[in-house]
Amino acid sequence: MPRPESVFETAPAPRVPHASTHAPPTREEGLARLARFVPLAGSAYAASRNEDRGPQNRDNVSTLSPYIRHRLVSEREVLAATLAAHSLEDAEKFVQEVLWRTYWKGWLEQRPAVRNRYDARLAQDMRALEADLSLRRRFEEAVEGRTGIEGYDDWARELVETGYLHNHARMWFSSIWIFTLRLPWALGADFFHRHLLDGDPASNTLSWRWTAGLQTQGKTYLARRDNISRYTLGRFSPDGLSGSAEPLVDAPPPPAAGIPAADAPRAVDAALLLTEEDLTPEQWHLGAIRPKAILLAHAAASRSPWPSSVPVLAFTEGALGDAGRRASAHLGVPAERVALTPQALTDAARRLGVGALVTGYAPVGPAADALHRARPSLADAGVVLLRLRRSLDERAWPYATRGFFAFRKAIPDLLAAEGLVAPGTAA
Ligand SMILES: Cc1cc2nc3c(=O)[nH]c(=O)nc-3n(C[C@H](O)[C@H](O)[C@H](O)COP(=O)(O)OP(=O)(O)OC[C@H]3O[C@@H](n4cnc5c(N)ncnc54)[C@H](O)[C@@H]3O)c2cc1C
Repeated sequence: MPRPESVFETAPAPRVPHASTHAPPTREEGLARLARFVPLAGSAYAASRNEDRGPQNRDNVSTLSPYIRHRLVSEREVLAATLAAHSLEDAEKFVQEVLWRTYWKGWLEQRPAVRNRYDARLAQDMRALEADLSLRRRFEEAVEGRTGIEGYDDWARELVETGYLHNHARMWFSSIWIFTLRLPWALGADFFHRHLLDGDPASNTLSWRWTAGLQTQGKTYLARRDNISRYTLGRFSPDGLSGSAEPLVDAPPPPAAGIPAADAPRAVDAALLLTEEDLTPEQWHLGAIRPKAILLAHAAASRSPWPSSVPVLAFTEGALGDAGRRASAHLGVPAERVALTPQALTDAARRLGVGALVTGYAPVGPAADALHRARPSLADAGVVLLRLRRSLDERAWPYATRGFFAFRKAIPDLLAAEGLVAPGTAA
């Protein structure tokens, strides 16, 4: 499943926003945001979550996504803190939103071909930009916020400067990109993925597909002026938006192929390999595994054939450093940086004299690709790769076979199985 090599020689240079717009990529900051937000996670969130009040006023949403995406704070912890303060009935909306990420991951994990198709389409669209100067000009206006469309241009700049957009702005933006600007959807998804601090292959690719009418086949999302005006509290009221949204056409997704097995812990000397997919190893169930060292590696530079933004790379690097310090203190073993390549991982395992690399399960995405490529070389060196999966993912992913509404029905039972609500609790 390796991604295509860069096909586009004149890639846009990463833009460097003002450093102060970015919060520290630490677990401490994630937990502080969680503690601040929990009192608002009940009916207040349900009533106001759709409002995009602007970058200076995000109190109606949690802004936890960069922390949850890297598992500086886990989904389970967010759910546990929420359900300790609110009933499931009161916090139903917030709980569902947190589990959307889990749903998307489980859906894509069972259909990796959908991401391969996205990669192929992106490569094709990038080549088209080389060949078609008019398309290239419209694309550049769209990513630089120079289309003249009120709101849209502001969100393009906000994304680049802050690495974050409100969910409703992501919906409006993707809809305007596809149906008003008539730009290829994969280029828009790639623009998001290169700049979002929370950039997540499943949530991002599948949400863009959803807007385009490819995910829920035939059902598109149309951004409307009155809706934007209402939910931006009158900040934006754009003219000239498309009045219709014809679904894009693509082959239907393959049927769900089941969840690939994770690995069970076993008695072995091991290095814990921390990637951007799970940065709270203190919570891993290591069983008989004997940790000897910690390796820190990420694949954030491979989010796209083009360079990931400077803030994305800085956030990932910082988050990895934070996790390394915590894990080292927790387990009493040293941590070191390593490249996420077959050679570097194999050399490190040999040098450390360990029989296993133990990692948090990487769902479909660049880190999983890199680990997949490293397996044969590790095996030749007698080193096994053990991928540990969180119990919430293990339980929830098999339900992500159809739409979210089918998945949603399982939520009370999933929460009960995780010990977060009493069995039989209704939402
Ligand atoms: C086109 C498009 C692209 C997107 N790309 C990404 C992406 O790359 N990475 C990403 O994390 N989210 C993505 N989302 C989902 C969602 O917009 C963000 O997770 C959310 O806006 C993050 O802000 P928050 O933490 O303040 O959310 P809150 O409203 O406070 O929600 C709490 C948590 O629930 C989860 N969540 C909420 N809504 C969603 C959702 N629709 N899908 C998945 N998880 C959700 C996030 O972990 C979030 O932190 C995308 C949505 C759209 C429409």
